[in-house]
Amino acid sequence: MGEQVIGCSGHTWEFYYSLFERNSLDNAGMKIIQTIHYGTNYQNTFWNGKQMVYGDGDGKIFASFTSDIDVIGHELTHGVQQFETNLEYKDESGALNESLADGFGIMIKQKVLNQDAGTSDWLIGENVLNWR
Ligand SMILES: [Zn+2]
Repeated sequence: MGEQVIGCSGHTWEFYYSLFERNSLDNAGMKIIQTIHYGTNYQNTFWNGKQMVYGDGDGKIFASFTSDIDVIGHELTHGVQQFETNLEYKDESGALNESLADGFGIMIKQKVLNQDAGTSDWLIGENVLNWR
């Protein structure tokens, strides 16, 4: 079982700034706007092109989507990609977009937990999914 880090956008911001000297998602200091407790028992989270939106889950299958720093890092990386890639969100380019978001999401968790590839559990969203 992995260590839980309740995420915040600050971890993602710090990751991109300290490793890539990137100033926010657009590299121009944009504010990271986030809506939490979206809807009623909403079972997902997403970057809508302008801000993050997090549901609380239904408490059965999903817990709050803010329960994992890697999920937050994943979603905010979609924001970075909006400014840095031409990956249309469909078919193979959409799959690459998701893959990059997963890769950066887990790296953000590893940096916060001071882990490397050998000590990381490599799990994304393990606390969001109520599998215990
Ligand atoms: Zn995604």
